[in-house]
Formats: sequence, structure tokens, C-alpha cells
Amino acid sequence: MSQGAFEHGRCILPDAHCPMRALSYDNALRFEPHHPEPPAGEGDSLLRVRMAGICSTDQEICRGYMGFRGVLGHEFVATVETSPKPEIVGKRVCGEINVVCGKCDLCMAGLSTHCRNRSVMGILNHGGAFADFARLPASNLHVLPDTVDDDAAVFVEPLAAAFQILKQITLDGRKWVTVLGDGKLGLLVAQVLRNVGAPVRVIGRHAPKLALCEKWSIRARAVDEIAARHDQDVVVDCTGSAAGLELAMAMVRPRGTIVLKSTVAQGKPLNLAPLVIDEVTLLGSRCGPFREAIRALASREVDVLSLVHRRMKLEQGAEAMLLASRPGVTKVLLSVAD
Ligand SMILES: [Zn+2]
Repeated sequence: MSQGAFEHGRCILPDAHCPMRALSYDNALRFEPHHPEPPAGEGDSLLRVRMAGICSTDQEICRGYMGFRGVLGHEFVATVETSPKPEIVGKRVCGEINVVCGKCDLCMAGLSTHCRNRSVMGILNHGGAFADFARLPASNLHVLPDTVDDDAAVFVEPLAAAFQILKQITLDGRKWVTVLGDGKLGLLVAQVLRNVGAPVRVIGRHAPKLALCEKWSIRARAVDEIAARHDQDVVVDCTGSAAGLELAMAMVRPRGTIVLKSTVAQGKPLNLAPLVIDEVTLLGSRCGPFREAIRALASREVDVLSLVHRRMKLEQGAEAMLLASRPGVTKVLLSVAD
């Protein structure tokens, strides 16, 4: 597979060697009409991307998060072009983003999302999905049912991350559960927790999104309307901002739990003493179970289509990233194959 040949950062091979369009980041975000295909790894399937979603993590990468260089994007739906698993060729799939070794102590212990040798699609040493083609090991792929269309399928990865919370904490008997942040992830988390019967309240800044919560019968309040009283059993920080943890600390009750979902490039000096004094459990939470997310989308128990702000073309990727970073904007989708 061609890796391309570069002179002053530009590919000088004929188009046939650099056959795909891609949105990549290398100190600057760039749409490239002629990008080399992603290199093939052992066990990889070649994917023709249909649609991809812009995630806050993509924007954080453009602010320096993870020091990533390459094709961005990890929320996607694609058609399998070639695969060592012939039965999935031609199928519509989404993919788990952690590419793992299967051999290290953590993989052997069943903690493969924490593999010591992992790469992560569009985030760490592995090309992403904002391109005509991407690659992932066949074992990472999940064939999608027809009941989950392309727009919905793009939400499998972030929705799986929302379901991860249910793997980490039990909500039985919890009376006061707050989701901080009315962004894309916060609105998915709120629906997932509501669906298991948790009494969820969303705290946000954007009236249209808080109205969406009300439509879903989820209580919602503007952040400036609430007082932090150290009375919440569980606070899930989905603010995507370094200030989120500070507010969560002011809201959680003694011996309560803070679930951290925000990944932000910039930290913030913080006095952690209240966590000690109040004996608060602080829980990081990342990738989650794809199967449950696909099932929830197929059964329509989570509304994701209300979260689609706009569909744009891959060529408009830089503009789409800018749009997605505006306050109040929910999911911006990139139509890749049309
Ligand atoms: Zn491993």
C-alpha cells in the first residue's frame, strides 16, 4: 500500500497513489484531496467511510490534546471493502476505536480497551474516519442492522461511552443524579441513565437543548438557576471543560460519586481537598459497549436524530469543525460517500 511521497508536505505522486480525500490535522486542520490510503495492519479490514461525526475530542486534538497528527475522526459508519472475514465484506459497520495487541497483561486480564500497546483511531497513532477509506481490525467491527440508519449509526461510539457508566456504577436507590453539560455526550448520558430508571437532571447552558430534555421527560435546568448544595448522589461531568469538575465537586454529596466524561486538553489548578474531606469517589469513564449502543438505537430507546445539527460534505470539513465548536451546536455530520 502506498504511503505517498512528500515534498514540502505535499504529495507528489500521481492521484492513483493517493486516491482518497481526507481531513487531517498536522498543527493545522486541512482538507487534502489526495491523501495516501491508510497502511494495512495484520487482520485489518479496509473500510469505505459513508458518514462520520465530529466529536469534541476532534476539536480538543486541534488544541493539542494527545499530540495527534494525521487523519481525524473516530465516529463513523462504513461499508467493508476487503476483510479477512469474508462474511462481512459489503456489510455496513461501525467500529470500536481501540486497536489492541491482545498480548499484554491488561489485554490478558480482559481490559483490552486499556491495552498498553494500543492505538486509537483518529486519536493515537492510527488514522481516522474523516476520509474516503479507513482501516480497523475485523475484530473491531460491528455489523449494523437495517433498523439503524447511517445518521444514527454515527452515534454508536459516543452512545457506547454513555453506556459505560452503567458498567461502572449501580444507580439502584440513587435519588439525585445530575448530568453536568447539555452537549452531545451529556444528552446521550442523560437518556441512558433515565432509561434505567435513574432520576436524572441535566444542568446546561443552552435553552434549545434543555428544551430537548424536557421533550424526553428529563428534568433540565440552566446552570445559573441552580445552587450547588453538596446533595447529589452522582454527578456525571460531561461539560468538556476543566471547570466541570470544580462544579461537580460543589454538587456531589459526601460519599457520593463523580463520573468524569470530559477530556480536555487544558487542565486547571484545582483544590482537591474537598474530595478527601467528603470521601468522594472520582471515576474516570471512557469507551463502552458497542452492542448495547446498537441495540438501543435499533429499538429507538435513545433519540439521537434530534441531536443532528447539520450534514456537511467532507470537503467542507474545516468549516464543519468550526461550526461544531460553536456554543449550542450539537452533532455535525460529515457525509463522505455520496
Ligand atoms: Zn494489549
